[in-house]
Amino acid sequence: MTVELYESTHAVVGEAAVRRALPRRAHRTVGAWCFLDHFGPAGSSAPLTIGPHPHIGLQTVTWLLEGELVHSDSLGSEQPIRPGQLNLMSAGHGVVHAEDGRSAAGAGHGVQLWIAQPEATRHGPAAFEHHAHLPAMSMGAGHATVLTGSFGGTVSKARTDTPLVGVDLVLDGRADLPLEPSYEYAVVVLSGSLVVDATTVPADTLAYVGAGRDEVRVAAERTRALLLGGVPFGEEITMWWNFVARSRDEMDEARAAWEQASDRFGTVRTDLARVPAPAVTR
Ligand code: MN
Repeated sequence: MTVELYESTHAVVGEAAVRRALPRRAHRTVGAWCFLDHFGPAGSSAPLTIGPHPHIGLQTVTWLLEGELVHSDSLGSEQPIRPGQLNLMSAGHGVVHAEDGRSAAGAGHGVQLWIAQPEATRHGPAAFEHHAHLPAMSMGAGHATVLTGSFGGTVSKARTDTPLVGVDLVLDGRADLPLEPSYEYAVVVLSGSLVVDATTVPADTLAYVGAGRDEVRVAAERTRALLLGGVPFGEEITMWWNFVARSRDEMDEARAAWEQASDRFGTVRTDLARVPAPAVTR
């Protein structure tokens, strides 16, 4: 079995420099995971701070390794998040949120991921969940925290709209990661390095592991990584700006609704400036 490696690309979100691991041209999605930005560590860039902006058709997952971020949204949520906690927002038909890393702790280091919502929920209402405590398991060579889904019998209570899993790994040494054969998987190394099968995966690189396996052996050297997996997403998605949709018409409609400040998206209580939609370049 060959592991495919993809080095992250560089991008800027607000004023923060990020490394983008997903989407890749060869893998637009891994399960329903469709986007991953890695920011920080602290001091390497401006803190992640972004004013009110809309989403449709996706869930946002915020996971911090250091610092603090305050999430606010058009549902009225105002939720600080710290390392070890999970913020999960489901956009459905439309939601607006802001992420504020201007507090003393700053949003030093973390990841923001998106999960594509399936037809069954993507037209539905928006929702927000904060999980202050997540289930974790010892792996011998370290430990695993389950953000979403199930890993080696340890199950997160976070909402999932399709069968998927997201696990934070802190490893130093050898470990066998239990996998679900019907899922495809990727590992994204955030720091340190990881040998997956016989392939060395450096930091800010995505290793696509594929499907059909019930475990994968890894060797870690002071490694922080995310294991992402899920049943291959069966719906053809289109991604543009902050939207996941199925057609250009849907994108145009969502863009127009945001630019016209329509009720579809609502408002957020924050002093951060609203983010205008970019020009359409599709
Ligand atoms: Mn967002």
